[in-house]
Amino acid sequence: MVEYRRVTDSFLNALESIAGKSHVLTARDDMAAYSGDEACRAAGPLRSEPEVVVRPADASEVARVLALASDALVPVTPRGGGTGLSGGAVPARGGVVLSLDRMARIKEVDERNFVAVVEPGVLLKDLQQAVEARGLCYPLYPGEKTAHVGGNVATNAGGMRAMKYGATKAWVLGLELALPTGDLIRTGGKLVKCSTGYNITGLVAGSEGTLAVVTEATLRLTTPPLYEEAFLVPFSTLEQAIGAVPDLIKERVPLAGLEFLEKDALRLMEAHLGREMPMRQHEAFLLGIIEGGSQDDVLAAANRASEVCATHGSSDIYVAGSAKARRELLEARASLFHAVKRSGLIEIADVVVPPSRIAEFIGKVKEISRRHGLPVLAYGHAGDGNVHLHPMGQGMDEGEWEQRLPGVMEEMYRAGASLGGTVSGEHGLGSEKKKYLRLAVPPEQIELMKRIKTAFDPKGILNPGKVFD
Ligand SMILES: Cc1cc2nc3c(=O)[nH]c(=O)nc-3n(C[C@H](O)[C@H](O)[C@H](O)COP(=O)(O)OP(=O)(O)OC[C@H]3O[C@@H](n4cnc5c(N)ncnc54)[C@H](O)[C@@H]3O)c2cc1C
Repeated sequence: MVEYRRVTDSFLNALESIAGKSHVLTARDDMAAYSGDEACRAAGPLRSEPEVVVRPADASEVARVLALASDALVPVTPRGGGTGLSGGAVPARGGVVLSLDRMARIKEVDERNFVAVVEPGVLLKDLQQAVEARGLCYPLYPGEKTAHVGGNVATNAGGMRAMKYGATKAWVLGLELALPTGDLIRTGGKLVKCSTGYNITGLVAGSEGTLAVVTEATLRLTTPPLYEEAFLVPFSTLEQAIGAVPDLIKERVPLAGLEFLEKDALRLMEAHLGREMPMRQHEAFLLGIIEGGSQDDVLAAANRASEVCATHGSSDIYVAGSAKARRELLEARASLFHAVKRSGLIEIADVVVPPSRIAEFIGKVKEISRRHGLPVLAYGHAGDGNVHLHPMGQGMDEGEWEQRLPGVMEEMYRAGASLGGTVSGEHGLGSEKKKYLRLAVPPEQIELMKRIKTAFDPKGILNPGKVFD
């Protein structure tokens, strides 16, 4: 374990000379504001205070902060929007929080190469607005639009449309990186193809701020779909709903996203939104997003979806049909995390399994939940196999669920791994899920990851205590 040093007055002075006095924060309230993220753990919101927060203006300031911290052996935790769900941005070992919020320029939208070049602190929603204004599209929709693009890259964020578009990594063409040693490097670029040495872009994307700080990202863009439609199909069982997924793909229903949920999740949404959802009396649902070239196309595709689902026991379909109804349906799904959070959520897991094994996995989760006497809500991305699992403590006293939770979590992760799955599909491991890495990744592979970490960060100053110890 590295023996980190405390932040001293001379260290603070040096930080001020890099970023300017007003961008070096040490007040008590500021430390509290930068001490947590959206992760939730059994003991309540996860918190650990930094000793100082620095808000650099550009890549060279980031590199200088890292060089300073490396010399002084002070840990540095990069922070984007703080919306992460695994404790990745929580300064577990104190030291410096490096907030990228001032680096929020969209440097370029290159309409001829279909590329945007952005600083890491750009909000996902601002990027989407800027490219849409040019008739282009950055088609990823991780559910939280106040996340930063840098945070999305660092966590390889996914979301509802990953079925068609993949996760963030698939849209990153190049990065500018500040290394923990204080060097600045560039990887990739406005290049569609690159077969030139190791893929450092792909390695850093998804590394949760443990290898390098993203100071600029070159992102691929596309053209937006001409028409979009959303539908909800009810089923009597989740097995029926999941069984329809491969056939929907085989029958060329042009799906951008396909979500599954059960009645209990629908009820939480209703309570949160204060309105009833369509088809509410059924047990399980598929919520689909269709993209197509014309209104007729998307309606024909919705009909095809209905026919396919009918062969799996469904007898109905709700097609949104108007922009307002579509927005309401998709917003309802996007609100689910907030609905769950208000209703006794005690943990978050985002296991990913091969899509065909979702129903089998959830069957195992329900058995684990029953055996331990701890309810687990399951919903997620049917199209890409990413299942969100929330152990729920409502109606129980804290001691009761605290005792049951560790066994439930460990067994759920083991069940996922036994079906060819892994620990996290999109949230990352951060500090909260790192203990489960060993359940899905063999020791020699973890050792290789540790050697890679050391190659990037020989002194271990960057985001210590994340991904692994
Ligand atoms: C309501 C809600 C819905 C969500 N829905 C989704 C979803 O659908 N799909 C999904 O994938 N996630 C989802 N998330 C999780 C979260 O939004 C994503 O993980 C997001 O990518 C985090 O971005 P951030 O800027 O908030 O990062 P932070 O939380 O600030 O940081 C996350 C990690 O990235 C690192 N980091 C941040 N910026 C940089 C940088 N510039 N360089 C290097 N490392 C950096 C941090 O050190 C940390 O390890 C959701 C969260 C909420 C609250």
